[in-house]
Amino acid sequence: MFQIAILAVLVGGALTSQGAKWKYGKTDKVHEIYGPNDWGKVSKHCDESAQSPINIEKSSLKNDGSLRKLRFLPEDWYGRVYGVLENNGHAPTLEIDKPRGTSTLTGGPLGNSVYKLQQMHIHFGCENNKGSEHTVNGRAFAGELHLVHYNIRYGDFKTAVDKPDGLAVIGVFIQEDDDDDSSYSLKVISGAARYIRKAGSKKRIRAIYLNNLVPHLRDLSKSYFYKGSLTTPPCYQSVQWIVLKRPIRASEYVMRALRGLLNDDEQPMCDNFRPTLLRNGRSVSQCDDDRLFN
Ligand SMILES: [Zn+2]
Repeated sequence: MFQIAILAVLVGGALTSQGAKWKYGKTDKVHEIYGPNDWGKVSKHCDESAQSPINIEKSSLKNDGSLRKLRFLPEDWYGRVYGVLENNGHAPTLEIDKPRGTSTLTGGPLGNSVYKLQQMHIHFGCENNKGSEHTVNGRAFAGELHLVHYNIRYGDFKTAVDKPDGLAVIGVFIQEDDDDDSSYSLKVISGAARYIRKAGSKKRIRAIYLNNLVPHLRDLSKSYFYKGSLTTPPCYQSVQWIVLKRPIRASEYVMRALRGLLNDDEQPMCDNFRPTLLRNGRSVSQCDDDRLFN
């Protein structure tokens, strides 16, 4: 009897959390749409203690010499991937058409497990001095690209998403630099962004080249590693984070195309980042020893 009562509470809770809506910025009490400070009302996991993003303090990094080489292996020599870019109301998101080619990630903090690229999306600011989710010594970048991978042991992304070793996400800072002629692949994404201004719209894109989008994906030795969570509800603590030290550069043209995107309320989508959370005793590792990565 007691067990049945607990089960009923759990199921009831799950249903409630499924129904609650979330957004960035302040909570909209009238329509019950919750901002980051109240995401615990959308999913209880958002109030747990190993959440992301965090501020990375360079002075408290742990050097982890035990890490093996972390390998990023596109299936295609050029790292070509295809897919549909969608405005889901929160971020421009590219679901990878995996049968046409994706990439895998293994080694380093992931050990022998193999993770497959499922999707990528971008967080970005309304101005250049904010937009990234992670910060380094308190400094934010204009944006942050997330390459979301799932552990193939679980068969698919949906099954992996809430498992402690389910996901691995590569975070790449985006720095606005108008002298920079942004990469071809970033231009493909920002060019498609003009077709998906409204939430719910989609656009199939031409091939993008992972090696061109993030040239230093071949050298993941210069990264920060830590265990954290999804940065949006339901905030599952299932992510091994790999945050690259080196940013990629984006022109003002690219940033303007992103800032033209609209959210569910038909307001500018920009500033779609979760504020940093406490590290709560977690260590952030780095491994700059190139020897271990060759
Ligand atoms: Zn993200």
